[in-house]
Amino acid sequence: MIITTVKKQGGDNLFVSIIEEIGGENAVKVANALSDKDEATDEEIAEKTDMRLNAVRKVLYRLYENRLASYRRTRDTRTGWFIYFWKLNPERLRTLIISRKQMVYQRLKERLYFEKENMLFHCGNSECEQLTFDDAMDVSFKCPNCAKPLIFVKNDKSIELLETKISELEEELKTLKY
Ligand SMILES: [Zn+2]
Repeated sequence: MIITTVKKQGGDNLFVSIIEEIGGENAVKVANALSDKDEATDEEIAEKTDMRLNAVRKVLYRLYENRLASYRRTRDTRTGWFIYFWKLNPERLRTLIISRKQMVYQRLKERLYFEKENMLFHCGNSECEQLTFDDAMDVSFKCPNCAKPLIFVKNDKSIELLETKISELEEELKTLKY
């Protein structure tokens, strides 16, 4: 339930990419199977995901190592074996999602500052980089990569785009933190 909330609050892609980074595609399958339920045994997950029990256990362990999953165990009175009930740890996931978003937010702020503070020059070639005024001066306004003349770039559009994205992220972070 909480996972669904986290996923909905703009965290869906991040949910997938964080889990994928930790345990690959298999981890995404397992996490999705777990996110629909309060808890599940490894056998239930294997059945639901069509994965081998061994692979499921490997993924669960990876998630456990990263504090993204936890378990409780009870003894099966019939067989005497332990049964493990697994669940995702939504708080940990939320923390990871927030810190990713904060990182992006920080980078966008830095980029915005850079765009606002600098006059930028470009040759028009998409493979070449933009240069600041000082750097463009150093190369006599000739692109160091393709030698075409460097032209002043009006960056109002980039600034506007960055500002929109930044305020969107601010909103998302507010909801995620509640
Ligand atoms: Zn160029």
